[in-house]
Amino acid sequence: MELKQALDRLAELQRKMYAYRAASSSLYLDGTTVAPKDTAEGRGVALGVLAGEQHKLFSDPQVGELLDFLWAHRDGLDRPVRRQVEELRRSYDQLRRIPADEYMEYAVLTNQAGDVWRRAKEASDFQLFRPVLEKLVAFNIKFAGYYDSAKAPYDALLNEYERGVDMAYLDKFFATLRERIVPLLHAVMEKEPPDDSFLRRRYPVDAQRKFSDYLMQVLGLDRSHCTIGETEHPYTLEFNNKDVRITTHYHEDNMDFSMYSVIHEGGHAKYELGIADELQYTCLAGGVSMGVHESQSRFYENLIGRSLPFIQAVFPKMKEFFPEQLAGVTAEQFYRAVNKAQPSLIRTEADELTYCLHVMVRYEIEKQLIGGTLAVKDVPETWNRLYKEYLGVDVPDDSQGCLQDSHWSGGSFGYFPSYALGSAYGAQMLRNMEQDMDVWGPVSKGDLSGVSAWLGEKVHRHGGLMEPADVVKNACGPFDPTVFADYLEKKYSQLYAL
Ligand code: ZN
Repeated sequence: MELKQALDRLAELQRKMYAYRAASSSLYLDGTTVAPKDTAEGRGVALGVLAGEQHKLFSDPQVGELLDFLWAHRDGLDRPVRRQVEELRRSYDQLRRIPADEYMEYAVLTNQAGDVWRRAKEASDFQLFRPVLEKLVAFNIKFAGYYDSAKAPYDALLNEYERGVDMAYLDKFFATLRERIVPLLHAVMEKEPPDDSFLRRRYPVDAQRKFSDYLMQVLGLDRSHCTIGETEHPYTLEFNNKDVRITTHYHEDNMDFSMYSVIHEGGHAKYELGIADELQYTCLAGGVSMGVHESQSRFYENLIGRSLPFIQAVFPKMKEFFPEQLAGVTAEQFYRAVNKAQPSLIRTEADELTYCLHVMVRYEIEKQLIGGTLAVKDVPETWNRLYKEYLGVDVPDDSQGCLQDSHWSGGSFGYFPSYALGSAYGAQMLRNMEQDMDVWGPVSKGDLSGVSAWLGEKVHRHGGLMEPADVVKNACGPFDPTVFADYLEKKYSQLYAL
C-alpha cells in the first residue's frame, strides 16, 4: 500500500463515520424537538441499523491493517494525521476487545433503560429501575475490563470520559474542595439569604424567547451557524464547526432557568464552532473531553454569566423585555438573587457553591458500585445518607433523590466528575485570562469578544489534537484545584459579607 493511498482511505473512513454520526444526531434532534409524540419506534429501528453499520464499518479487520500501516509510517505524518491514527487505533483496539454480541446486547439494554428510568422517576419507584441498573452496572464492570484490564474497573471508566483522571486524582481533588466548600457554605447559611422572589414572577415565554435571541447575540453566536430550539432538557448538538444546535426550556415562573441554560449551552456551542477547519470530518473534530467541554459551558454560565459586570451589561435590556417583572429591581439585586447559595436536592438547579457537593455524592456511589462494595439495592439509602452528610438535606423520595439524573440509564458511569472538574478548570482559565488581558472592562459593556478570542485560541481551535490535561495545561498551567476554591471563597465572601 502506498502512503498516499492509505491517507486517502483514512480520510474516507472518517468521513463515513462522520456521516453515520450526523444521521443519528439528526434523528435524535428530530425526536426531541419537532417529531410527533408517538413516532419513537421508527427512529429506534433506524438508529439500531445505523449503530450496527457504524460498528461493522469500524471493526472491519481492514481498518486495523490500515491503521497499523499508518502507525508504522507515523514519522512521515503531519501532527493532526498522526494524532488521528493514534486515537483511532485506541478506539479500534478497544472495540475489537468487546465481543460483538455483548456490544449489541448492551445497545439494546441502554435503549430500553431510558424508558424504564423515566417511568421509575415519574412513579418515584426505585424498585422499577433496580433490575435494569443492576444489568447496567454488571455490563460496565465487564466493559471496564475490556477498556483496560490493568486498571481498577472504575478507573478504566473514568479514563473514558477524562483521559488521565483516576480515583486517586479525584479523591484528592474532591477532598480539597470539600475542605474549603463545606465551612464556606456553613458561614453563608448563617447569613440572611438574598431576596430572589422576583425571579419567580410570571415571565411570558414569548418575551423569554426574545431574551434568548438577545443573549445569543451577546455571546457572539452567529445564527446562520447555530440555532436555538426548545426541548424538555436543554442540550447542545454539534454536527461540525459550521452547524451546531442548542436547546433550552422555558418555565414561566423561573426565568433564570432558561437564561442560564442558554448561556451554558452557548458555551458548549462556542467550543464546537471554534474548532479548526483542518480538523473537520475527522475524529479530532469535537471537544476533547467532557471535563474540558464543561469548563467552557460553565465558564460562560458562571464565571461570566453570574458575574456582576455581565449582569450590569445585560440588565437594561432585560428590563425592556420584562418591565413589570423587574420593576424596582436593580442589577445588583439580580446578581445576588442568581447567586443565592442554598443546599438543595436537585443537581441541575444547584448554585455554583453547592454544585460540586452534588457531584461528590454521585462519585462516591459510582466508585462503590463499580468497585463492588455497594449493591444496587442499597443505592437509595446511601444516596439519602450522603445528601444529609454533604448537603444537610433530607431526601423525601427517589424521584428527587437517586432517580433524578438520566446518566446511569444511558450507561454513563464516570461522567459526573467531569462537571466538577470543568468548573475547576474554568476558574483557573479565568485567573490566567485576567493576567493576560482586561476581562471585566469589556464584559461590563456586554463585549465578550476578548473572552471568546482567548478561549478560542487557547482551547477551542485545538479540538482533540491534544490530551485533555494538556489542553488545560496549555491554557492555564498545571491543574490546581485550590484556584477554584479561592475563587469561590472570594466570590461568596463578597456576596454574603463574610
Ligand atoms: Zn454542559
